[in-house]
Amino acid sequence: IISMRNVSKFFGDFQALRDVNLDVRLGERVVICGPSGSGKSTLIRCINRLEAHESGEIIVDGTVLTDNPKNLDKIRGNVGMVFQQFNLFPHLTVIDNLTLGPRRVLGLSDADAKSRAMKYLERVQIPDQADKFPRQLSGGQQQRVAIARSLCMEPRILLFDEPTSALDPEMIAEVLEVMTELAASGMTMIVVTHEMGFARRVADTMVFMDKGEIVETGAPEDVFTAPKSKRFGTFLQQIL
Ligand code: ATP
Ligand code: MG
Repeated sequence: IISMRNVSKFFGDFQALRDVNLDVRLGERVVICGPSGSGKSTLIRCINRLEAHESGEIIVDGTVLTDNPKNLDKIRGNVGMVFQQFNLFPHLTVIDNLTLGPRRVLGLSDADAKSRAMKYLERVQIPDQADKFPRQLSGGQQQRVAIARSLCMEPRILLFDEPTSALDPEMIAEVLEVMTELAASGMTMIVVTHEMGFARRVADTMVFMDKGEIVETGAPEDVFTAPKSKRFGTFLQQIL
C-alpha cells in the first residue's frame, strides 16, 4: 500500500533521507527505530506529505505523491497521523475535536459525525470524556483522543510519531494497549517508537534508521536476536 523508491530529502545542504526504499503491505505493522536525528520523523512525514521529498518516488495507495493538490487531499484522507504532543485543539471539547474533520473534510452531517466520534471514543475506551476539554484530561487520555480523532477520518494507514514519549510511565501502557488492539483489527500502521516490548509483540517488520538511511529491516524475532548490522546491535544494547 506504500512504496518508497530511492527517496531523498534535504533541509538546505543537510540530507535528512538518503535513498530510502521501503514497501509496506496492506495490514502490515512496521516499527521504525533509530537514534535521534536519524530521519524517522522526516520519513513518516514524507508519507503524508507534511514534508516534500526531492528525489525518488513515493506511492501511497496508488497515488504518486506530487505537488498536485488533488493528490494531497486524497493522501491526507487516506493517511492519519498521531503525534508525540497529541496536537488536539485546546479550545474545542473532545467531541468537537473528533467531529471537526468528518464534518469539514468529509462532509458528514452533525449527527453522523457525532455517532462516528462516539464509536471511536468507545474504541479507545473513554466515551465518558466526550464533553471535556483536552486540558482536563490526562496525557494518556489526550493521546487516546488523538488516536480516536485520526480513526474518525477512517484512514487506510495510520502513522504514529513517538506516540508515548511525552507520557508518564503509567500512561504509556494504556496507549500501547489501544495501539495493539488497532493492530489486531488489521490497520496498516507505521509506528516510530522505542517501546521495544510493543515492537516485539506487534511489528511484522522492524526498520532501523541511522543518519538518514534505512540500515536494516527484518522480522522482530530475527533482528532482536541477531541484528545483521553493528550499528543496530549497538543501538539495541543502548536502549534495551
Ligand atoms: P528524534 O528521535 O529526535 O525525533 P528523528 O529521527 O525523528 O529524531 P528527524 O526529525 O527526522 O529525526 O530529523 C532528521 C534530521 O533532519 C535532523 O538532523 C534534524 O535536525 C533535521 N531536520 C528535521 N526537520 C528539519 C527542518 N524543518 N529544517 C531543518 N532541518 C530539519
Ligand atoms: Mg522524530
